[in-house]
Amino acid sequence: MTVWEKLEILGAAASYDHSCTGTGFKREAPASFEGRRRIPGIYLAQTADGRCLPLLKVLFTNRCRYDCVYCVNRASKDVPRASFEPRELAELAMELYRKGVIRGIFLSSAVARSADYTMERMLEVARLLRQVYSFRGYLHLKLLPGSDPELVRQAVRLANRVSANLEFVRRKSLALLAPGKEKRILVGALAQARRFKLEEELPTSLTTQVIVGATQETDYDILRAAQNLYRQGLLKRMYFSAYLPVNDDHRLPPKETPPPLLRERRLYEADFLMRLYGFSYEELLGPGKNLDLAKDPKLSWAERHPEFFPVELKKASYEELIRVPGIGPRSAKKLLSLRKDCVLTTKGLARLGIRVERALPFITIGGKRPARNLSLFSL
Ligand code: SF4
Repeated sequence: MTVWEKLEILGAAASYDHSCTGTGFKREAPASFEGRRRIPGIYLAQTADGRCLPLLKVLFTNRCRYDCVYCVNRASKDVPRASFEPRELAELAMELYRKGVIRGIFLSSAVARSADYTMERMLEVARLLRQVYSFRGYLHLKLLPGSDPELVRQAVRLANRVSANLEFVRRKSLALLAPGKEKRILVGALAQARRFKLEEELPTSLTTQVIVGATQETDYDILRAAQNLYRQGLLKRMYFSAYLPVNDDHRLPPKETPPPLLRERRLYEADFLMRLYGFSYEELLGPGKNLDLAKDPKLSWAERHPEFFPVELKKASYEELIRVPGIGPRSAKKLLSLRKDCVLTTKGLARLGIRVERALPFITIGGKRPARNLSLFSL
């Protein structure tokens, strides 16, 4: 099998992993690159500051000893299988990098033979890239469940980001759909990675992914788990992956079930509120509940808490401002820095990035409700 044939299989197989943000897109190779052709496995990932980074997102192998019920690569599934050799994958990635096709690599894998065996080979790719080819781009490495701690340490040293996929937040979901995986081991990998990062003062970030909609797990379960992991410092971000049916099995939702994309979006919105706005999961929804699909969770919270409003824009603290629908951290900071030197009128709030129509029902300026359809705030 040629390296391109492997890339066809292993680039497509990686698309199910959402533990780095990314949307698939086709990028054509430069004319000098084995002739003009479409390159599989190339994704656009969004960085924290909003830039788009073309990544090679690929599995090292899709041969797996596990038989996770929901997975396209499960051991019992009859699909084409492939594995890279460490050097051929490192050379391929490096060539794409040098030619400007990619700016980074997200390397994940199924678990062939054992976690340690596969992790060793993934690390060999990373070592070749960093130490032999002087690769300076972004590198995200997946931690395979149950890997030796020393391998986790090496991954944390070599990568910009490491992730260990929890897949589900409740033990019984894992037992049902991912037999052989244990929550204790998956969270343990994140804890080890965090310890090594702190011991060696490395900037490596930690993420995970959970699948949404394959089990009875509620948004409350998922957000509670996310916030607990954030509070323990074990995660920079949790990613949510709407369940995409690829297998028929009585333990799964019917195959014709559409992926719960709106639910996934609401979870991302709630996650932002927890990480950047100071909300707790208990404020956003009650035990056993899902988020309201009809409106975003911040608006939903505001409508349930009339006692908190209106917020007076001339006096409110940062923490109060960012609870107003339509006002985010950036616009709240701008408002705080400008309001003492400006006359707050009905002109200009939109220029601060405030979504005025959204904010209007929840604010006052100088004790008065601002009129609708007027631009607000002038200097
Ligand atoms: S470990 Fe489970 S989820 Fe991961 S590739 Fe293997 S079967 Fe799929």
